Amino acid sequence: MIIINLKNRLDKKEFKSVVDFELEYLLKFKKNTKPQDKLQELKNNTSDINEKKIVTYLIRNFDSIIIEKPNKLKKIIDHFKTQKWEEIIYKSSKTTDFGTKLLECFGYKDRFRDGKTRGIWLAEKINLKSCCYCNAQYGITIKGKKALFQFDHFFPKTKYPYLSISLYNLIPSCANCNNTKNRTDLNLEEYFHPYFNNLSDLAKFHLEYDPDPRKIFTFKELKKQNLKVNFIAKAVDTFDIVSKHNELYSIEDIYNCHHDIADEILMKSIIYTQKLIKNHLKIDGLFPDKKTYLRYLFSNYINESEIHNRPLSKFTQDLLKQFKIIDSY
Ligand SMILES: [Zn+2]
Repeated sequence: MIIINLKNRLDKKEFKSVVDFELEYLLKFKKNTKPQDKLQELKNNTSDINEKKIVTYLIRNFDSIIIEKPNKLKKIIDHFKTQKWEEIIYKSSKTTDFGTKLLECFGYKDRFRDGKTRGIWLAEKINLKSCCYCNAQYGITIKGKKALFQFDHFFPKTKYPYLSISLYNLIPSCANCNNTKNRTDLNLEEYFHPYFNNLSDLAKFHLEYDPDPRKIFTFKELKKQNLKVNFIAKAVDTFDIVSKHNELYSIEDIYNCHHDIADEILMKSIIYTQKLIKNHLKIDGLFPDKKTYLRYLFSNYINESEIHNRPLSKFTQDLLKQFKIIDSY
């Protein structure tokens, strides 16, 4: 749902570029957890020739594994497939003992599982406030203390423990989305990757309502109104990626639990006519611009670039576009 545009997210005073940030992320692991030393130890302690080959590959390509983009991570996965190394790590729907050892070497547990250290450094730098997959739940970070969300592994760590701390494999998400996805092995061609593409640009929420509230004059009648939220692709060629995302994370089901909010947006869109909005904006010094006014009126962010700031902001914006309160894409 939300694209993590690191270039815009990072504090420019702290990082001159995304590359600077990637290098600092890499250095943090090298310094604190020393995964390469642990991998070397694992290599020394195993007599299995294939296990030795895997660990050698991981030591050699360590930097790429940690900071490469998702499409390059996919190439690393493909290399494991070509070498027939997959079953050494994951067999009969379970991570093997060797796979578990790899996970320990990369130090995922030390850095991300523990309640206090759970990726707090990364969480603070990315600085999002809602789940990337659903934009329906908060995902906040209490500065210096705790990240109140989970990191989903786009490429599951059960199958790919060597990607367990890879920067672009860690997706800040709510517990519901993380648990729903669980071990599902997704691919970049068919599924939305928050560091890779912007689902918000590809899909929109649309509210079906019957009867039209403009023709209803009492709240009693309004209660009988049928509402239905749809999550639809904006273009034919994005239909598959949108449908798959919708199905996997139950997007329409989640948003159909928010008919009360949809109803409030719909009713306010009718009550606050363009004429009334114009009159309010004429009041000197009260609102700097129309977008700020609408943010207060609809209790959410109106700019597309601020979707990550609050749950349901994408939903609010799309409905406001549908009701012609704000400009459509
Ligand atoms: Zn979520």
